[in-house]
Amino acid sequence: MEYGQVKGLLAKKPRASLGFYPTPLYKLERLSSYLGVNLYIKREDFSGQSLFGGNKIRKLEYLIGDAKAQGAEYVFTYGATQSNHAMQTVEACRKEGLKPILYLLAIVDPDETDLKGNLLLDKILGAEVHIIKMEAGETEEEAYERMYRLGKAHIARLEAEGHRCYDVPMGGASIVGTAGFIGGLVELKEQMDQIGVHCDYLFHANGTGGTMAGLAAGKKLIGANMHIVSVDVTCHDAAYKASRVQLGNDTLRWLGAEPVLTEDDLDIDPSYYLPGYEVPSKGGTEAIKLMAEQEGLLLDPVYSGKGFAGLIDYIRSGKVAPGSNVVFLHTGGATALFAEKEILGELY
Ligand SMILES: *Cc1c(COP(=O)(O)O)cnc(C)c1O
Repeated sequence: MEYGQVKGLLAKKPRASLGFYPTPLYKLERLSSYLGVNLYIKREDFSGQSLFGGNKIRKLEYLIGDAKAQGAEYVFTYGATQSNHAMQTVEACRKEGLKPILYLLAIVDPDETDLKGNLLLDKILGAEVHIIKMEAGETEEEAYERMYRLGKAHIARLEAEGHRCYDVPMGGASIVGTAGFIGGLVELKEQMDQIGVHCDYLFHANGTGGTMAGLAAGKKLIGANMHIVSVDVTCHDAAYKASRVQLGNDTLRWLGAEPVLTEDDLDIDPSYYLPGYEVPSKGGTEAIKLMAEQEGLLLDPVYSGKGFAGLIDYIRSGKVAPGSNVVFLHTGGATALFAEKEILGELY
């Protein structure tokens, strides 16, 4: 498909104007010579609308557009207490006059008398915040399921009272949200065309997989051939890859396109997230320091630092050949630098 046709399909869907697009794309000169590749960065962290933007805003343009089209009054979403997605959802709701309700799992216990990072921003923005503490003997997965159940029960109560609610899954990884990164991939490809550089590799941090599914679907639609490497920041079960292929295909169907994604279209690398989600890694810490000291640019310990650690390792190990054109999608998250010390790690 032509770029314009894809944009035409997207333009038929309701959309709230939340960010400033296209987000900047440019070459990191010092790191390029240091690493021996042509390294470009796409600044999704500069999405707006506040200083604390990120990749969720692109999804939220469609999610909030859909919520308003459905006449919603409340928007529910979920995540960890330092969720970037939850905070960006709150910003988006405020801008569009919707009421945000968050259910957040305390993987790291916040000090409720001294709030930090995104949780502080959620409170300043006036979101209704429900913090779910981990129970003894419970796994993270079980705790997330309990949190979802509490959220759904809350929605049922409000709807029984006649209120309309819009339910956004963690990370905004629904069909509607994923559409945002079909647009994001087309935007990136147009920018690369403009500077006349072929994108050999696109690296990004991968969580719920909405960004990945959208990028892969967008790539397939326009027939682009960059190699997308999705660097995991958390543990996924065996059914994850198939479910993300389905998410991408359902999004394509929703837009009126053919569901063309297969498992071969996703390259998910789980080698860089340990010791765990929201637990700093040695590689991530090194990556953050390298970016900070070479380029004066900030990554975060939970997502973009681990994603960039993957990129560095691919170059050093020769999986990415010297001289390749590599794009790093900076998905945001630097508010984690102001979160709890356990999340930050040994950065100074
Ligand atoms: C949510 C998030 C990601 C991962 O995006 P998914 O679509 O959930 O996979 C990456 N980086 C940052 C900073 C994020 O907040």
